[in-house]
Amino acid sequence: MTLEQKRHVVTAIPGPNSVALQKRRSEVVSAGVGTMLPTFIEEAHGAILKDVDGNHLIDMGSGIGVVTIGHTNEKLVAAVSEQVAKLTHTLFTVAPYEPYVKAAELLTSHAPCGKKKKAAFFNSGAEAVENAVKIARKATGRTEIAVFDHSYHGRTNLTMAMNFKAHPYGTGFGPLAGSVHHAPMSYPFRDPAEMTGPEAATRAITYLEKRVGASQLAALFIEPIQGEGGFIVPAPGFLLTLQEWTRANGIVLVADEVQSGMARTGKWFASEWEEGFEPDLITVAKGIAGGMPLSGVVGRAEIMDAAHAGGLGGTFGGSPTAVAAAVAVMEQFEEGGWFERAEQIGEILSGRLTAMQNNYPVIGDVRGKGAMQAIELVRPGTMDPNPEATDAVMKHCHQNGVLVLNAGTYNNVLRFLPPLAISDELLHDALDVLAAGLAKL
Ligand SMILES: *Cc1c(COP(=O)(O)O)cnc(C)c1O
Repeated sequence: MTLEQKRHVVTAIPGPNSVALQKRRSEVVSAGVGTMLPTFIEEAHGAILKDVDGNHLIDMGSGIGVVTIGHTNEKLVAAVSEQVAKLTHTLFTVAPYEPYVKAAELLTSHAPCGKKKKAAFFNSGAEAVENAVKIARKATGRTEIAVFDHSYHGRTNLTMAMNFKAHPYGTGFGPLAGSVHHAPMSYPFRDPAEMTGPEAATRAITYLEKRVGASQLAALFIEPIQGEGGFIVPAPGFLLTLQEWTRANGIVLVADEVQSGMARTGKWFASEWEEGFEPDLITVAKGIAGGMPLSGVVGRAEIMDAAHAGGLGGTFGGSPTAVAAAVAVMEQFEEGGWFERAEQIGEILSGRLTAMQNNYPVIGDVRGKGAMQAIELVRPGTMDPNPEATDAVMKHCHQNGVLVLNAGTYNNVLRFLPPLAISDELLHDALDVLAAGLAKL
């Protein structure tokens, strides 16, 4: 399928057909399932979404970093179509199939977790995080789990407790799982100006040693670049200092790369940007299968093998079509060009966003890696979060056919994670719309 790679707005957004569908939807779909932009999408290709009113929107969010390879990528569509006609289900733990093994071979060969690695597949990012917790507890015989401020790990009972933000993720849904401890994150924009990565890590380590005790901790979970928290990139040396401490204390170090992994930042994993950083386990999901529901845990074989047979699994985890999609995605990453493209996109984004920051003091910070970039909006001249301006700029973009996403603990971050299939022209067009929105404030 093809779709002209051009922004084209023909009605209000949402248009009349979307408004009618929204009405149907509100009758039968739970109010708990919110929607950022109530525009119904009919089809998509590359970096363009076509809605039910014929509007062509530029996708600057990739469904939160999922269609990294681009919407309806030809090789992925072919692989999934072929697989769905051949075999859709046996349940890998009942009777296995080859594409699961192939996906594990690809994933283990690129995960920066030492020499001998193994993987297991599940359905969602939250499920991968839950399984990493199970594996780490079994491997260490310990119970406690450490996470960081501003983190996001999912919406299941355990991962809800691992998130930083109570609202909207946890409020009213308790009791939450116990044995989860939140430590201070390295947040260069808001930390004291002179604080280095190792110092920020020492702050977290001291807190965890006093509050929990290193010997009690099964695992430490860290997003190498935080996603929902607002693309917070920890100061250099933060991850490595944490790693020295987890290794010295027998704690399983888990990098949650559900959002930052899979070519998004210009490498297979964002962890690779910190030289020498080798987490014990990595959780993946979002970008791994181009939109098919798949997640995984990959990591050091001796830890991955700690779980007893039958301890890990699930009916749909690593289903044939999902792993076939993942193979198509990872094989294309191996063929080359994608990481370079992510870096080029990063240069265009950070170059233009930094120029906007010089013009508009409402932008307090520009940060990110590769095709994972964000701006944090403040009240000009202060550090005070500016969620109102963030919302206004986001709405301007939406009305003009550019789908951008917000993020951040204070709802004051706009994040950009376009499909890597986006052209320079489309990217600049989207950024022009953003600049006009900032000018309008
Ligand atoms: C999205 C996300 C999750 C949860 O993934 P789901 O597939 O929505 O369950 C976990 N961790 C991070 C870092 C994420 O961005």
